[in-house]
Amino acid sequence: MSFIDIHSHLADPRFDSEPDVRLEQVIAEAKQSGISTFVQGGVGPEDWARQESLAKIHSEIIPVFGLHPYWVSAHTADECEQALDVLAQKLKTAVAVGEMGLDLRSPYKNCEGLQLEIFERQLELAKFANKPVVLHLVRAHEEALRVLNLFGLPDAGGFVHSFNGSLKKANDFMSLNLSISVGGALCRGNNKVLQQAVAQIPLEYLLLESDSPDQPPENWPMPLNHPKSILLVAEKMAQLKGIKSREVLDRTSQNARKLLAL
Ligand SMILES: [Zn+2]
Repeated sequence: MSFIDIHSHLADPRFDSEPDVRLEQVIAEAKQSGISTFVQGGVGPEDWARQESLAKIHSEIIPVFGLHPYWVSAHTADECEQALDVLAQKLKTAVAVGEMGLDLRSPYKNCEGLQLEIFERQLELAKFANKPVVLHLVRAHEEALRVLNLFGLPDAGGFVHSFNGSLKKANDFMSLNLSISVGGALCRGNNKVLQQAVAQIPLEYLLLESDSPDQPPENWPMPLNHPKSILLVAEKMAQLKGIKSREVLDRTSQNARKLLAL
């Protein structure tokens, strides 16, 4: 058993402050469940440094560098510019570039212009290095399609992380050769739109993610989400597709290895 959580944030400082749970324990429990690889999502330079130190201690943690739309929204154009320079230096060793994208919910929407610019610049960097992209797209489907069609994607492809939309939206991304990564949102009882989409999306396009410490499945018993929650997502996916959960875990992990050349 050697399954992959394709997107988490184990360098998130909240793991240090979670009462009674150490990150070592979180990782050990995930490994006991058969999850052997934890691919990260990049937020900004401070997070990249924390990811790198963690990866030195835990070889199962795979760092990923990028400028998250949240980080972009909290910084100036000059700060973003400097961070892009650092990012460009890191591309050679990265397995993927991201998170990058657009988040047009109300606290971030007023930075739409800067988000767009930094998204486009990161797409250019990823294309130049031919590394897969990790896309964070929230309430920005049409805008994102416009940017992706205009700028193009690396041949190495990429994936939409934490996908939570309809089959039509998934098809728009798959037609651009993007994979679809699904997390805890699939396990919400009333999330029929995503469940119907996942039932139809071919298995070769699907990936499993925890996005821990965020986005726990419904009734998750701990304050923070942990990578082992992908087992619940796999179970739900298997039920929707009428196959065994082990097959979902095996196939999505194979997809992840192929996409990120792991
Ligand atoms: Zn994330």
